[in-house]
Amino acid sequence: MSRKALIAANWKMYKTPAEAKAFVDAFLPLVAGHDRDDIALFPSVTSLATVVEAVKGSKVAAGLQNMHFAEEGAYTGETSAVMLKAVGATHTLIGHSERRQYFNETDEVVNKKLHTALKHGIVPVVCIGELLHDREAGLTADVLVRQLKGALAGVTAEAAHSLVIAYEPCWAIGTGKTATPKMAVEAHAIVRAELANLLGAEVAKATRILYGGSVKPENAKDLCCEEEIDGALVGGASLKPDSFAAIVKY
Ligand code: PEP
Repeated sequence: MSRKALIAANWKMYKTPAEAKAFVDAFLPLVAGHDRDDIALFPSVTSLATVVEAVKGSKVAAGLQNMHFAEEGAYTGETSAVMLKAVGATHTLIGHSERRQYFNETDEVVNKKLHTALKHGIVPVVCIGELLHDREAGLTADVLVRQLKGALAGVTAEAAHSLVIAYEPCWAIGTGKTATPKMAVEAHAIVRAELANLLGAEVAKATRILYGGSVKPENAKDLCCEEEIDGALVGGASLKPDSFAAIVKY
């Protein structure tokens, strides 16, 4: 079964609505007619409605970088799945390493968010990845399996059809250090084997596993051409339309 790759832009805490609109206006013509991959933009919450509006009529999707697990409630500063859908967004990142590192997001919270996203028909991009000291201690597989088990607890194969996993080694995010294609392929194979264990072989085969961590126009091809790598989650190099378009069209 062939998996359609997804190339996704995580803009982190960058871009006002006007800047987000200017990006989309410049970016869409650069990727017009590009059908090989799905494309998604993850702006900050204040730019989400602007991006949804700006990508209308194109095949580019829009999503949030984070979503709360509750449908509503006294959670100051948070955004719900219902709110995300109400503005017309379709995707969400879950468990990005910056959320885990700075906002204490645990595997348990990631799991609750994933259940909520799946319940609301939102495409979840669940981020996992090891720290440098995990890798150096030979614990990469243990960390990935633990994060996947935690994220997917109670998720059925039927519910998981839209699931996307982003393998993002923490030491490669925003550092300019990229995993070699061989390292990424090895990690993706571990992820796919654990997906098969948790959700069955069919779902594992169909699930897209993206690589993230200092992807740039210069290394996108080497990474994304690998059979095991089903696209990329891109931070810094997704902030400029020409740079992100060059990654999409590697
Ligand atoms: C990210 O934010 O998910 C990411 C991979 O960032 P960068 O591409 O800047 O390493």
